[in-house]
Amino acid sequence: MKIVDLRATTVAVPLEAPLRHANGAHWGRFVRTIVEVETDDGLIGLGEMGGGGEAAETSIRALKPYLVGHDPLQLEQLYWKICNPTASLYNNRAQLHAAIEFACMDLAGKKLGIRACDMLGGALREEVPFASYLFYRYADPKTGLGGEETADQMVAAARKLKREHGFRSHKLKGGVFPPDHDLEVYLALAAEFPEDSFRLDPNAAWSVEESIRIGRAIETVRNDYFEDPCWGLEGMRRVRSFVKIPTATNTVVVNFEQLAACIRLNAIEWGISIHSSGELGIQLATMLHLGAAIPNLTFAADAHYHHLTDDILKGCKMRYIDGKSAVPTGNGLGGELDHDKLQLYAELFRSTGGYDYDRDPQRPQWFAVVPETRFAQPKESRKAPKKGRSQNTSDRK
Ligand SMILES: [Mg+2]
Repeated sequence: MKIVDLRATTVAVPLEAPLRHANGAHWGRFVRTIVEVETDDGLIGLGEMGGGGEAAETSIRALKPYLVGHDPLQLEQLYWKICNPTASLYNNRAQLHAAIEFACMDLAGKKLGIRACDMLGGALREEVPFASYLFYRYADPKTGLGGEETADQMVAAARKLKREHGFRSHKLKGGVFPPDHDLEVYLALAAEFPEDSFRLDPNAAWSVEESIRIGRAIETVRNDYFEDPCWGLEGMRRVRSFVKIPTATNTVVVNFEQLAACIRLNAIEWGISIHSSGELGIQLATMLHLGAAIPNLTFAADAHYHHLTDDILKGCKMRYIDGKSAVPTGNGLGGELDHDKLQLYAELFRSTGGYDYDRDPQRPQWFAVVPETRFAQPKESRKAPKKGRSQNTSDRK
């Protein structure tokens, strides 16, 4: 089996409402580049990568000379061709490689008649648990959804997600409003769902001192973990030494070299969870196959998937039942591209373009720094200033 061609198509798939985070926002759509790798025996393998839009499409296409003639079963050779850490020093290709590797595993599974999880050791489970992923959202005029800012609004949103999907673990994406606002919302969620577990992730927006203060204030909650409260290995090490909650990161330990440093510093407590990058169905399938094969997957996985209004795979959107999603049963990744939807959402991308993850369309003068001090202010506190004095709405600056 040899690769003969590859295609890359960038799509924009609408969200129910824009998602706010500490660095900016997802502006009402996810932009993803769908990769199709074709072999000499006519098989097509699917891959997906996030963000980047046209640049991602161009970068994927530029890998064609590396890939034509390559046997998709040779995954280690694929890594070294694309990701040799010294040869690709000035071209960080980790995401590009991941998208191509997904496609090669899809091809290998289709060729051999096995599932992707079988290449990772085989499935230990056929369903993977997911957490609700609770974002503060801007209201979306098209769908009439979103607008969550307060504790009551967030609890109502969590109740709806739990009713629809059965989630038993809840992740609050914090760092948009001041830390005490996140604290109030988080404690309200914990009080509303006493049987469930929780994780708080302000995307490293807080100082070490604020992280310790809030961490101590949530110690009585049934926490899964405290994710990236502040920036940097040394900051996380210091938080960990003062807070009795397992810590987690997807920002300061993202490769094996950093893992070695993290273990030496004892900076972050390690368990296994599965992170999310705003995936469509192809990447969700990779997360499900990985989740099927990891023995010590003791935490629910994160996914943005339920915030999407549609997908680019055939059939309806993948579902959660009792907070769990089934591992696909077909060969390879187990998904088939819906070419009509691919064209529909490629056209949407052409008409709407990309968006900057680290900009907030409703706060155009603001940009994120770490630690953050110029937080957004919830509308309610703007309407109801305390003691007759107007509150400091830092986003006016
Ligand atoms: Mg995170």
